[in-house]
Amino acid sequence: MQVLDRVELYHVSAPLPAPFAPSWIPGTIREKTTSCVVRFITDDGVDGWSAFPAAGRERAGLGDLLASLFLGESPTDIDRLSERIHIMAVGGNFNWWIEPAFWDINAKTANMPLYKLLGGTHDRLKLYASSGELREPAARREEAEARLSEGFETMKIRVHDWDEAVDIAHISDVATHMAGRMKIAVDCNQAFRLTQNGDAPLWSLDRAKRFADAAADVGLAWVEEPLFGEWHEEMAELTAYSRVPIAGGELHFAGYSELARMLRMGAYAIFQPDAMWAGGVKQCLDIAKLCREAGLKFTPHCWSTSFGFIVNAHVFAASGFADEMLYEYPLSPPGWVPEARDAIFKTPLLHNRGWFDMPQAPGLGVEIDEDKLAKYGQCFFRASRREVHWMPEAFASIA
Ligand SMILES: [Mg+2]
Repeated sequence: MQVLDRVELYHVSAPLPAPFAPSWIPGTIREKTTSCVVRFITDDGVDGWSAFPAAGRERAGLGDLLASLFLGESPTDIDRLSERIHIMAVGGNFNWWIEPAFWDINAKTANMPLYKLLGGTHDRLKLYASSGELREPAARREEAEARLSEGFETMKIRVHDWDEAVDIAHISDVATHMAGRMKIAVDCNQAFRLTQNGDAPLWSLDRAKRFADAAADVGLAWVEEPLFGEWHEEMAELTAYSRVPIAGGELHFAGYSELARMLRMGAYAIFQPDAMWAGGVKQCLDIAKLCREAGLKFTPHCWSTSFGFIVNAHVFAASGFADEMLYEYPLSPPGWVPEARDAIFKTPLLHNRGWFDMPQAPGLGVEIDEDKLAKYGQCFFRASRREVHWMPEAFASIA
């Protein structure tokens, strides 16, 4: 039986071409993309990769957990491995993002692209452009025009103002300007408040209802995360009230159990769980199935790392929703562009006139560029079933 034999962890930090100010973290300016990368290797030499955003050294001790809980296990027993990820979570370590690495191994072992192993038949995904920064109305119009000229028919913008009139003015302006040419959606990023560098408004149900009314009046495609993520009852009330589909679900880190309960409550019209946060590949596909049965929509969130994009692309391609829904394509130039996000890949994951062609290589279908990994990454933990090797000196230099 094939078993997980070795594990490695890397801290990767690569520069962005220009500063990027994510709307969902007020006061933050990013000049680089940083992530924690995991590589599992089986006893017969198959490797599986994944990654998660990292501020710095917060995953310093993760290797000890990975080595003790996963080495010697079969990579095919996803339920057992998921149970171990859950055990880690009980101890305060949410790490659903490592589950896709096991799928990478399984699909490589089967010599198939992951989405095909999962039963998917969609080789091309239609995309929507997902912007990441707050902009003044004139700049938003320019941004929408640029994405339209690149082939996108739908774009998602962000709002995060203290004054709801400003938020409403922004969606109205760009939706009116692009009317008949491009659909506009909006992400309010209220589900998971990030306020470490600057404060942000917390929407009430009443404010969310007024915003949903305004969004319906200007024909927005959907309204994403207009309420705090744990307010399930209020979310269900809003979804029943709104004339525009209410979307969300990306970071519900309890995974399937929480999302299934929210689904039964009618919390969202469009479920967007992210495999890296919300239960891994398997649990997200289980949610897609429930969405199908309930007549709801599904398309995963993917804005995190290069692996977040490709893992969720496989989930979407296998979800059964790729004919009717669009997949997120994070694009917020000049700062957030796939060429920088995918710095350790041999080939960045680029769109083709608003479509993404699923890679056909086995597994996740991405190839790590060892030179770039050496340039941008530092291995800080390595263990096998026989030996654990810490590199504290490597990790000490990580800023
Ligand atoms: Mg979102």
